[in-house]
Amino acid sequence: MRSTQARNCSMQLTPNHPLKNLNTFGIDCTAKWFAAFHNTDELMELLDNPEVQNQPQLVLGGGSNILFTQPFNGVVLKNSLLGIEVVGETDDHYLVKAAAGENWHQFVMHCIKNQFAGVENLALIPGCVGASPMQNIGAYGVEIKDVFHELDAVHIREKKIKTFDVTECSFGYRESVFKQREKNQWIITSVTFRLNKNPRLKTGYGAIEEELDRMNLDQITIKDVAKAVIQIRSSKLPDPAVLGNAGSFFKNPVVPIETYEKIKSHYPGAPSYPISETAVKVPAGWLIEQAGWKGLKRITHGVHDKQALVLVNLGNARGAEILQLSSDIIDDIQHKFDITLEREVNIY
Ligand code: FAD
Ligand code: NAP
Repeated sequence: MRSTQARNCSMQLTPNHPLKNLNTFGIDCTAKWFAAFHNTDELMELLDNPEVQNQPQLVLGGGSNILFTQPFNGVVLKNSLLGIEVVGETDDHYLVKAAAGENWHQFVMHCIKNQFAGVENLALIPGCVGASPMQNIGAYGVEIKDVFHELDAVHIREKKIKTFDVTECSFGYRESVFKQREKNQWIITSVTFRLNKNPRLKTGYGAIEEELDRMNLDQITIKDVAKAVIQIRSSKLPDPAVLGNAGSFFKNPVVPIETYEKIKSHYPGAPSYPISETAVKVPAGWLIEQAGWKGLKRITHGVHDKQALVLVNLGNARGAEILQLSSDIIDDIQHKFDITLEREVNIY
């Protein structure tokens, strides 16, 4: 694995470290202490430090699923572990292990270049590989649980290394054991994916097929699917480098069919997707748009004008202001549709 050699040095903690460039919302705040680790020796050394053990810790990847509402009063540990390697192979699959600090989109591009199929629908999702199991990232009908083999993680207090298989991760819709029972307990150091030698393309979701038709291809490859996804995403999602955001702020609610039927009696075109015989998923973006929030601006922050699920920093917003906007939206959707929206973004 391409990882930095263990350095024989004592890891320094930087005080009052600025976080503005380390979160895609672009919230201007600081960490009381900060350190980046480039290999497991450095990580273990940091975890041996009583300064780290005795305060709250936050493991940071690309900062694309985080809202800072106050200075972080503890130690931010920036995951900078790098390396991608094939660790196994069968007739049908490659097992590809990626270190947690690898950029997710670059990892997807690496897979496409090497004909490792399965993650092409997940192109252009910001952030790092290590965070991908946290909320079982998903887009266009694929979730990482579909291609997940195992992950390695270090227990923050006990410093033991454990390999989690798919069952132990308890993946759900934008959920995993690491957001629930094991929250703040583990630092994921690598993830191994089971990728296909023979692609099984998934093009039936959202506008992928339409986009592929536009490309007028004889034969569709995983590279074409990724291209289509990148094109669609770029046309409707704000680029965090230009407009601060953390993607979808809320999860799509799964509601009893009766709740949906009630909505449908007022809005005959209300979209829904079946989840079970008794429950459907209703796009949160649609609910927020119907309630009149799409494009709303509150001087420093607002709701994106092309996708109501995305809250944006229009310039110098404070995290607390964005959190308040999210609470106002939750209250309004509760009142208008009798549905409780849940935040997807991690609040600190
Ligand atoms: P961070 O924001 O750094 O961290 C998120 C959480 O995970 C924090 O609680 C952090 O402590 C924890 N964490 C991070 N790394 C580790 C680690 N190694 N070990 C333990 N805990 C860790 N998400 C989707 O699912 N689908 C999408 O299509 C999608 N599109 C997006 C589009 C945009 C424009 C943006 C801005 C975001 C989007 N997201 C999407 C959300 C986000 O990109 C993903 O959730 C991503 O996986 C977060 O990665 P990160 O490295 O930035 O995590
Ligand atoms: P979209 O295509 O406009 O669709 C709106 C919503 O309807 C999506 O959230 C999606 O749910 C659901 N949907 C659409 N087609 C579906 C189908 N065939 N079966 C089941 N559900 C369906 O969505 P979008 O905003 O442009 O996003 C496209 C994809 O990228 C989605 O999968 C979305 O989750 C993902 N994305 C995620 C984030 C994030 O931060 N989490 C940000 C941007 C985009 P799902 O969300 O459950 O797929």
